[in-house]
Amino acid sequence: MTRRLTEGPLVVATHNQGKAKEIAALLAPFRLEVKAAGDLGLPEPEETGATFIDNAVIKARAAAEKSGLPALADDSGLAVHGLDGSPGIYSARWAGPGKDFAVAMARVETELGDNPDRGAHFVCALALAWPDGHVETFQGEVHGRLVFPGRGTQGFGYDPIFTPDGYDQTFGEMDPEAKDRISHRAAAFRQLVEHTLGPDGPR
Ligand code: IMP
Repeated sequence: MTRRLTEGPLVVATHNQGKAKEIAALLAPFRLEVKAAGDLGLPEPEETGATFIDNAVIKARAAAEKSGLPALADDSGLAVHGLDGSPGIYSARWAGPGKDFAVAMARVETELGDNPDRGAHFVCALALAWPDGHVETFQGEVHGRLVFPGRGTQGFGYDPIFTPDGYDQTFGEMDPEAKDRISHRAAAFRQLVEHTLGPDGPR
């Protein structure tokens, strides 16, 4: 039996503006008082885990312990099939200290070279941690293929080079609402909602 989140404050433990915006939109239907980790002055812990789930748990636990409130963290990234799943948990790091995703997308293109396998999937791991140490985790994925050059200015990160299966537009070209319906983050959220927020949750 998973633990449910009762009404009240919830810290969203991300310092990434793009993700914070998408998470806030996904949580909007629930009567939760969403607080941003950055606004609470919570530090960003080092992501030392070996998996997306490990890293989400590290971030959620750190925020819950420091704030004394339930905390939700997301760890996500792009797994490129022709690169054995890279950049994976290192997706943010491939953008370098300047967080320049043009650099990261160019690296994916260069490393793929003439490899005909253009398959890739985004992964989103969510961890919901309580101050007493209890944690619930969920994972969602969206599969598709990569296109070069990238297209579109919506979204963030690797969105311009990713076309989800069944669509011609890249995530960079899609309306945010369309991406929110099919994304890895939406898939992980559906599980979070089903198991911890709804239908008896604080709607
Ligand atoms: P982290 O979860 O903060 O370690 O960073 C994950 C990184 O994966 C982000 O900085 C993006 O580069 C990439 N990423 C995760 N989700 C998405 C998405 O929905 N679109 C594009 N890039 C994403």
